[in-house]
Amino acid sequence: MPIKKPKCPICETNEYVVFDTTGEKVGTTGGAVAGGVAGYGGAAGGASAGAAIGSALFPGVGTVLGAAAGGIMGAITGATVGGVAGNKLGSMYDEASQSFKCIKCKEEFSGRI
Ligand SMILES: [Zn+2]
Repeated sequence: MPIKKPKCPICETNEYVVFDTTGEKVGTTGGAVAGGVAGYGGAAGGASAGAAIGSALFPGVGTVLGAAAGGIMGAITGATVGGVAGNKLGSMYDEASQSFKCIKCKEEFSGRI
């Protein structure tokens, strides 16, 4: 959605003002990391199932490969889901905080006056 840009309090123009999406970036990264960790943990069940199948087929090597595959799949899925959720949360935060930045003056300010 288009956001009306406020004027920079220093140079008094909105020409160089950008919407600060720090929350969105932080949220995406944080969500992906948290989701990856949670997904890896959540995949423990899948990993042990994979390990059981793998060790039945190829004892030793199959156990390790099966467990790793289950864990990695869980981590990737978790990271993707977490990243999307974190991005949503972060952009909500950005919209609520209404923080803007003037790229000319490096001034950060709230758009709510
Ligand atoms: Zn400025």
